[in-house]
Amino acid sequence: MPIKENLQRIKSQIPNNITLVAVSKTKPHEDIMEAYEAGQRIFGENKVQEMVGKWEALPKDIEWHMIGHLQRNKVKYMADFVSLIHGVDSLRLLKEIDKRAKASDRVINCLLQIHIAEEETKFGLDQDELSQLLNSDDFKSMKNIRIKGLMGMATFTDNEAQIKREFQSLRKTFNEVKQFLPECDTLSMGMSGDYMLAIQEGSTMVRIGSSIFGSRNY
Ligand SMILES: *Cc1c(COP(=O)(O)O)cnc(C)c1O
Repeated sequence: MPIKENLQRIKSQIPNNITLVAVSKTKPHEDIMEAYEAGQRIFGENKVQEMVGKWEALPKDIEWHMIGHLQRNKVKYMADFVSLIHGVDSLRLLKEIDKRAKASDRVINCLLQIHIAEEETKFGLDQDELSQLLNSDDFKSMKNIRIKGLMGMATFTDNEAQIKREFQSLRKTFNEVKQFLPECDTLSMGMSGDYMLAIQEGSTMVRIGSSIFGSRNY
């Protein structure tokens, strides 16, 4: 199905107050422009170099979200323009983002990635690491980052009960973090395979790639 119809179908399924991030990783500029012309303005990428290239070439009113695992040495390339970094999973990374945001005279919005999947391979902070980070003096002194919320990825499985449990645990953590951080209003959870379930469990932002752009060939 063409990109425009896919977008319209997804938008008709999700409530208006849910933010849709169109995940355009590996996809060419033409595909992004097709979504753009259908009204989409928020795109997600998981590789910094690729996102920089697309930012340079495409309309400047696009909001670029970095959704992938991020290496510290890549932060500087996107500090001028990235609008939300979803995958912040360490204090060291957050310090680097703060430093580069300061150099760019910006405040960069971030989500802390929480490990909710049973799979070992997924990234993210566990409960102890999260509370250590939030309680550290380093964190309290950072002026150029803003924690907007949390992000998580459920296990890749057909077991809906398990996915639901994982989303519920993230929602619970989100509610706790909100007590500390009043600017927290974003819960990024849900992808092509599980976004309706994620919304039922309290997601405010879904990251959808293949259901919009088709499957990816790496
Ligand atoms: C690729 C990716 C997505 C989108 O995945 P689809 O299954 O194609 O919708 C969402 N979130 C993250 C972190 C991703 O890397």
